[in-house]
Amino acid sequence: MKKMIFAASAVGLFVAGSAFAQDVEIGTWSGFRKGAVSFTFDDGAPSHVSDAGPLFDKYGYKATFNLVVNWSPDWSGFGNMAKNGHEIASHSNTHGQNMSGEEASSKQAIAGKIQQKYGIITLAYPNCNVPNESAVLQNYIVGRICNSGNSIVGKDGPSNWARVPAIMTGPNGSNDFKGPMGSVVSSNSWVSFLTHGFSGKNNGNANYSPTDIGLIEDALKYAQQNDKDIWVAPMGHVAMYIKERKASKAQASSSGSTITVQLTHNIKDNVSNYDYPLSLRVKYSGSTANVTQAGAKLESKINGGYVYFDAVPNAGEIVIAGEGSGPSPESSSSVIASSADVVKSSSSGGFGRSSSSRVGRSSSSMGFMSSSTDALPEDPSLLAVSVYRSADNYIMVNNAQGKSITVFNSLGHVVRTTRGIGCVQKVYTGAKGVYIVKVGTRTFKTSL
Ligand SMILES: [Zn+2]
Repeated sequence: MKKMIFAASAVGLFVAGSAFAQDVEIGTWSGFRKGAVSFTFDDGAPSHVSDAGPLFDKYGYKATFNLVVNWSPDWSGFGNMAKNGHEIASHSNTHGQNMSGEEASSKQAIAGKIQQKYGIITLAYPNCNVPNESAVLQNYIVGRICNSGNSIVGKDGPSNWARVPAIMTGPNGSNDFKGPMGSVVSSNSWVSFLTHGFSGKNNGNANYSPTDIGLIEDALKYAQQNDKDIWVAPMGHVAMYIKERKASKAQASSSGSTITVQLTHNIKDNVSNYDYPLSLRVKYSGSTANVTQAGAKLESKINGGYVYFDAVPNAGEIVIAGEGSGPSPESSSSVIASSADVVKSSSSGGFGRSSSSRVGRSSSSMGFMSSSTDALPEDPSLLAVSVYRSADNYIMVNNAQGKSITVFNSLGHVVRTTRGIGCVQKVYTGAKGVYIVKVGTRTFKTSL
């Protein structure tokens, strides 16, 4: 088959010639969001396991926890958090005045106790004193300092990865989370926060500048309300993303109705494999797409003339098969029970006046209500729950305060777990398709 280069704006109308760079783009931040925020916690406090981990899990976000090896952290508690997607990182062996000489040994000691997907790749300096920088960069992709002047890092990263700043929180630092979070959105940049323990909690050795954990919860609520714009991720993950984005080449070509994308980089530093997924979009005019990488299906979403998906660099060819050339998510949705569908008419039921419902009323009035597929719940507080699709393709869950929310894709895989916070909860799935949304014991079906 003659191979032609993907260049045209319409799929199916391909023009031979050089691939245009604009046909495939890598998002500045994951999910094509506008800014990145990392939360880091120092000293391995008991309250990090008992309070911070569950708080972040409740909102579906992940943070970075920097452990001091010789302070006997709760290895099993932090190990479970690592399994759950949090980043466990180093904060030295002894927490001496300057940790020079403990760069490699603290990493090895933690790696011997805790397995995690991307390894021990970041380090926070005790007492904010920078040790031997070359030893830092031989072992870590980030060395974190404390806030020095402007703590906002541009989209291309800091000038020195051994000196990545973070804003100290609590009485000896700042209690303003939303200000810096808003400013990274407007400047396409990255900010990190540095927290020790929490006021009124069991902090062990992490007793410096205890922060009101309610302020961190407010910050996570703010992130959730602005999930379309704010990417919350551990420091090491954001650093991998930046380095991969800057080093990766993405090239698209087409053959028949299939677009092939090569996503590669050649970073080598013996610290990280740089295999964190990058968010891509490719110009696309079809109404359905089946996206795979090395044969494995990727979640994808079509919006505004692009197909969006996340893919790992150097992990094989990405293939976007056009309409009619592969099973669409809808046609393979065998797990969905449709016979019991009852359309609820509660779109005006009790939300829309709070400040968090800025997207609520206009989008629910557009009629994208989802079907409830269950019998009446035993818990009467679940009766008011409704699920619908927003105009900008989010799953919206109403009146689910305090309830667990689990979103399954059409293949029955869990794509998001969270918990209802305000009266309107916005859930991002990243892909088009049919979804099953379980709220407490109730089940809804919706499609994006
Ligand atoms: Zn410390």
